[in-house]
Amino acid sequence: MVLDLNKEWINNVQTYRKCPHCQKGQLDTRVKRSFLVKYVFFWMDVKRYECNTCGKKSYIKREA
Ligand SMILES: [Zn+2]
Repeated sequence: MVLDLNKEWINNVQTYRKCPHCQKGQLDTRVKRSFLVKYVFFWMDVKRYECNTCGKKSYIKREA
């Protein structure tokens, strides 16, 4: 059946962080970090994402 074939694909879908601002959207868009963050926090594994619902940008620290 077609549904069985799709199962594997669903499991591989990347899960995004929820937006801390609107609690609804997902942070699915990578945004370039600002100059300051890039050079001051280069030792931190921080990435910047934009919410797909409210459009606000958040810094997300990657968890080990
Ligand atoms: Zn949002």
